[in-house]
Amino acid sequence: MSDNKGYNEVSVLIVGAGPAGLASAIQLKAKKPQIDVCVIEKAADLGNHNLSGAVLEAEPLHTLLDSAVPEWQQSDNAKEVLEKKVKKEKVMFLLGKKWSINILFAIKLAKMLSLGPGQMLHKGDYIVSISKLTKWLGHIAKGLGVEVLTGFAAEDIIFDESANRATGVRLVDQGLDKEGNKQPNFIEGEIISADFVVLAEGCDGLLTEKFIEKAKLQRYSPQLYSVGVKELIKVSPEQYEKFGCWRVVHAMGFPLWTPIIGPGMFGGAICYPGTDDHISVGVIVGADWKYCDFNPQDALTNFKQHKFVKQFIDGGTVVEAGAKMIPEGGYYAIPRDAKTGSIGKGNVMILGDSAGLVNMLKIKGLHLAIDSGIQSANAIVEIFNNPRAAALKYTELIDQSNVAKEMKSAKSFRQTIAKFGPLLGMPFSVFGGLLPKFKVEEDYKAMTAARYKLKGKQNFDKDTFTAMAAAEHREDQTSHLTILDSDICKTRCTPGFNSPCITFCPAGVYETVNDRVTPANPSNCLHCKTCQRKCPFDNIRWTVPEGAGGPRYKRM
Ligand code: SF4
Ligand code: SF4
Repeated sequence: MSDNKGYNEVSVLIVGAGPAGLASAIQLKAKKPQIDVCVIEKAADLGNHNLSGAVLEAEPLHTLLDSAVPEWQQSDNAKEVLEKKVKKEKVMFLLGKKWSINILFAIKLAKMLSLGPGQMLHKGDYIVSISKLTKWLGHIAKGLGVEVLTGFAAEDIIFDESANRATGVRLVDQGLDKEGNKQPNFIEGEIISADFVVLAEGCDGLLTEKFIEKAKLQRYSPQLYSVGVKELIKVSPEQYEKFGCWRVVHAMGFPLWTPIIGPGMFGGAICYPGTDDHISVGVIVGADWKYCDFNPQDALTNFKQHKFVKQFIDGGTVVEAGAKMIPEGGYYAIPRDAKTGSIGKGNVMILGDSAGLVNMLKIKGLHLAIDSGIQSANAIVEIFNNPRAAALKYTELIDQSNVAKEMKSAKSFRQTIAKFGPLLGMPFSVFGGLLPKFKVEEDYKAMTAARYKLKGKQNFDKDTFTAMAAAEHREDQTSHLTILDSDICKTRCTPGFNSPCITFCPAGVYETVNDRVTPANPSNCLHCKTCQRKCPFDNIRWTVPEGAGGPRYKRM
């Protein structure tokens, strides 16, 4: 293997410049500076497609940066991105639109008794913008000599099963028109060849899912998802001070579930402080909701109108907004090779959210994503001359790391709630890793004709929301969204479920045109992939559009 190949032939190709992929790249350069590493990212700029709460456990990031750039704490970027640490926290149970109880005492008690929910305490963690964190990690990676290519979207992984190795990935064709015809600016998607392929695309990655199929990886239980919608709100200095710039609030209950009246959806909400009088508010909803007219943005509106939240944000201005899915299936939804248990196969490793590495007792995966990046790099360095041993070595290192420990601690958490509902499932969750193994069905199968009772009178203003996400695609390219059978929409879904994609898509992509449901506004797409996982007939496929399209998050 040569050390200086062109970008279309590299030793290590990392798909996705999020925290997992960039951690892998940085650790590789720290351990073996002469190795050539290329990271490809579909977004136009680093951080544009990254959205999270986010509260970040410091240890994996410190471990990574201490070895790669020992002077990192002195940099202006570090001071800006890691400016805030959690000093105070509240865990609120919201009852109806007015009442709330701080149940932090119960979480502290759980911690004292070593029960699962005790993991929800965050004192000492960083409060970060994942878009800014990603941008910063990208600069570090570039500084260490990593080739970071933004605007490079990949559509396939070339995997030779008999040889047990991937030879590379194929980029998306650029310059096709809406009908798929080649335009004068057409560029055929190149193949980037690599000795090692690291899949770090985030949740529900296109290449990852194709690879799982090609390599016949299996999940014991299907991946389950939640949908998160978030707004960054500029508030008055008085409101910001009242909220507290070092305080995080996690909430559960209204408007997703309450002990007496329902509506019985799993999920929660957050309020985190940003800088310069900004507060982030967000709602995360388990994608196994049953209401065909439910839209997570309605839940966000309800949450913002709750008396406890309203006091901090009333009169504020939304300056940025976005949506994404989170993989929640936990330990039993990690894709593995049936024979060896490896998370990946041959020379291909699956990292972070792509592998479903989220600790559901914390509803956090950012620290696990970075840790998995470190482990993947360590694996490559250890078996550098034997690429086909990469997935096995990576899995061995993951199993010895905190990643496996945390994933095991919350083994059946989400499946328990999917099976028994939040009312019974949440109390069971205190038993964490002691819960038995459950298989559950995919989220989309949970949809019914039932209606969400707490829906507001007015439709959510999706146009403004989408504008705040700054989503953009080249308008006249081939749509990256496909409805497989539009007759199903017309004859079964619209009469039975009232075409839920029109309601739940946060960007208003789907509309009824000439009596047919269609992805009429693909250029609004936020790449959250909710439609692919929540259409009740599994009738939508999301593929990657041309590079550089999508949302442009700056402070999410
Ligand atoms: Fe229903 Fe799916 Fe058709 Fe939308 S695409 S109308 S959700 S079947
Ligand atoms: Fe999300 Fe699908 Fe709507 Fe795009 S079209 S914003 S992926 S739900």
